[in-house]
Amino acid sequence: MLKIINGKEIAQNLRNELKHEITRIKEKHNKVPGLAVVQVGNVAASSVYVKAKTKNAKEVGIEVFDYHFEDSISQNDLLQIINKLNNQSNVNGILVQLPLPKNINEQIILDSIHPDKDADGFHPLNVGKLSIASNNDNNLIIPCTPYGCLIMLKGLDIELSGKNAVVIGRSNIVGKPMAQLLLKESCTVTIAHSKTLNLASVCKQADILVAAVGQPKMIKGDWIKNDAIVIDVGINRIQYEQNGEIKTKLIGDVDYDEVEKKASAITPVPGGVGPMTIACLLRNTTIAFKNSIEN
Ligand code: NDP
Repeated sequence: MLKIINGKEIAQNLRNELKHEITRIKEKHNKVPGLAVVQVGNVAASSVYVKAKTKNAKEVGIEVFDYHFEDSISQNDLLQIINKLNNQSNVNGILVQLPLPKNINEQIILDSIHPDKDADGFHPLNVGKLSIASNNDNNLIIPCTPYGCLIMLKGLDIELSGKNAVVIGRSNIVGKPMAQLLLKESCTVTIAHSKTLNLASVCKQADILVAAVGQPKMIKGDWIKNDAIVIDVGINRIQYEQNGEIKTKLIGDVDYDEVEKKASAITPVPGGVGPMTIACLLRNTTIAFKNSIEN
């Protein structure tokens, strides 16, 4: 029987655990985690994400420091702000909402965040640690979206070891860290991308298929092995017409109606990976906070 993986519910469970843990640490140390949320400009989607992240963070007991700048801010001024936050003891996590305006080099900004405060897990040191750390290191700061996918896979209560996993997409924020995490679980991992030949037949080998492409409904039912597990990371905003009105909705990279007939488990869009990404950001901030107390 098909299992629809409920990202909203799993994310809520993770937030409940974090809230419990933060309360426990507060009672002992009289401190709570602090998350600095830095937004530059007014990209509508960024404002939606920042609002959701702030709300969720406050709900679990994380103190949020909001920094919202005009897109005219210079790279140097932004670097100085990050530097200040790096040295501020009540800030444990720093999140810079992407994308940044064109005049600012995103990688330079991300690299300037202290690796111990890297709430998104994008700093090269954390990326490196992810590739070499042992599987039972629970203090690692891990990119949020792939970690959220892994939590959902682990919740299925199946043996991941030995499974054929195909990840479509090789971005630094989703595809590559996803592949690292699956490799750590002893999956046999293939990373596919825009130059992959015969993508459909590569996907057909997958016991676990993770789609992180950004192409609406690209993955079709006949690309799917019977009973495969399908994780749809894609978030694509499309327009459609209803009663003469143009509306927008979010759809994934997977053609859900076709794929649900073949898969044993699937994540919906929305309500799948999205909520997990935010919950894992709060998890990273809490890990950074705990590490700062232990150090
Ligand atoms: P990127 O654009 O950085 O990467 C897309 C990847 O898909 C690239 O590696 C690209 O290959 C590959 N690709 C593009 N077209 C094809 C194709 N036709 N066939 C095979 N591979 C292809 O995107 P992200 O990794 O940042 O995000 C991917 C999707 O996930 C997007 O829809 C994004 O909105 C969503 N997302 C969702 C999140 C969530 O919380 N649910 C969080 C982050 C992202 P190549 O490298 O060769 O160009």
